[in-house]
Amino acid sequence: MNKRVFESIFGEKKPRISHPRLLIFQELSTSESPLSPQELYRCLIKKKRKIGLTSIYRCLDLFESLGLVFKIVNGSSVKYKFCEMENHHHHVICKVCGKVVEIDFCNISDWSEKVMESTGYQVTDHQFNFYGYCKDCKPL
Ligand SMILES: [Zn+2]
Ligand SMILES: [Zn+2]
Ligand SMILES: [Zn+2]
Repeated sequence: MNKRVFESIFGEKKPRISHPRLLIFQELSTSESPLSPQELYRCLIKKKRKIGLTSIYRCLDLFESLGLVFKIVNGSSVKYKFCEMENHHHHVICKVCGKVVEIDFCNISDWSEKVMESTGYQVTDHQFNFYGYCKDCKPL
């Protein structure tokens, strides 16, 4: 995590080990699979950490806006996955097992130019995910 991101989460002082955001960060960064806010809540309860569900939601929003995690929406379920890559990247997500791979190339400058031309917007940002079947789940 870079210094700027770190400071917008914890402020300038080193966080205490029991800091709620630090606990949530640790859970997410060590989990192989994406976690829902409820699953995070249960993990933390098991570890005898008292953090309200509302604080978890707020924290996840913050992490998402900083690009530390990304949100996977699947119908009514929402899960969050920790991002290994710090720079701009995309994700490909398996629709069956939920496994996520991060993709470090992005090649849509032509596309965003077209969007700017046709809408008159100044496009500064974009995010989207690819969905499909991973090697293990690919239908035969
Ligand atoms: Zn990512
Ligand atoms: Zn899969
Ligand atoms: Zn991109």
